[in-house]
Amino acid sequence: MNTTLAIEVPFLDLKTQYCAVEAEVNRAIADVLESAQFVGGPFVERFEQEFASYIGAKYAIGVSSGTSALELALKAAGIEPGDEVLVPANSFFATAEAVSNVGAKPVFSDVNPSTFHLDIASAERMLTSQTRAIIPVHLYGRAMDLRQVAEFAAAHRLQIIEDAAQAHGSVRDGIKVGASGRLTCFSFYPGKNLGAYGDAGAVTTDDAEQARKLRLLRDHGSPAKYRHSVIGTNARLDSIQAAVLSIKLPYLDDWNQLRRKHAANLSSALTGSPVTPPEVPAGSEHVFHLFVVRSRQRDALRSYLSAKGIATGIHYPVPLHLTEAYQQLGYPGKGALPVTEQLAEEIVSLPMFAELADEQIEYTIDAVRSFAG
Ligand SMILES: *Cc1c(COP(=O)(O)O)cnc(C)c1O
Repeated sequence: MNTTLAIEVPFLDLKTQYCAVEAEVNRAIADVLESAQFVGGPFVERFEQEFASYIGAKYAIGVSSGTSALELALKAAGIEPGDEVLVPANSFFATAEAVSNVGAKPVFSDVNPSTFHLDIASAERMLTSQTRAIIPVHLYGRAMDLRQVAEFAAAHRLQIIEDAAQAHGSVRDGIKVGASGRLTCFSFYPGKNLGAYGDAGAVTTDDAEQARKLRLLRDHGSPAKYRHSVIGTNARLDSIQAAVLSIKLPYLDDWNQLRRKHAANLSSALTGSPVTPPEVPAGSEHVFHLFVVRSRQRDALRSYLSAKGIATGIHYPVPLHLTEAYQQLGYPGKGALPVTEQLAEEIVSLPMFAELADEQIEYTIDAVRSFAG
């Protein structure tokens, strides 16, 4: 018997990452406190410039969360009550919620069974005369191939708003996610690949007019103090969060590279195991926000791993068209979007973060391989 201390594998370990940047982050936060510029001002502007330049976009507009990034981007794109917006049924709830919050209707599409990305053939079947936009999601950190989406959108005059909440730093065909020129929405929720120490988000775009609208919308539609040219909201990015993000941004590529390395190790070791690992594309197309495998005995596998101290998650357990909140839309229950529905029963996310230790990866591989089902 092995009598050494049991290894634990948390799903995510934000504390270890904090320890690596602790001195810098603490100093940056102290700078904000001393400047007493808590809302707007130089820390926000600095991060916006750094993020735009990292992404390769003309503008980055800092906002209060990924959800507000989506809501404001939809508004800036002119989406209104009565409009329909196509969204994948396998995504985080906020992708659809943002559509509802601008008064429009989310219309759910099925996803591709190997990339888990929005499936254009399915989206095409959902088109109506009210369809105005489509939100491709760069799910799990894998940059989606948007060529087909762009053709489809051009043919039907749809706006494209990208949800990149999970894909900071992924690159496809030489273009970083967020650098397409289109409105692209990022979240800096603490658990994302680039995470703040609270809620935060951003929208990138190359369009000066949309950047101007976004700046107005996030701050009460106010071009100057106590002037309000449109009805906006309060969705500003906090200075403390901006300062933390400025410290963390230079580490992002290294952290993503470590995630890719862990993913490559896991995927090759899990080929021929009781689970189906994700494909690991060559290059920087995937930044492995999540490492999602498939298993026909998913729930038994999760209990088995949990008993061994390995935490797992499901992204996402309930397809959006079947969530309680969207019962009002009247989807006919199971069978409407079969790929998403099947995935929801088989997917399981294994621990994935840059600071995973080799022993934790080995331990996870051994545990999954020893699962008899
Ligand atoms: C996290 C996430 C969001 C929402 O971001 P918040 O910052 O939590 O509001 C939206 N879409 C996807 C795909 C996400 O993963």
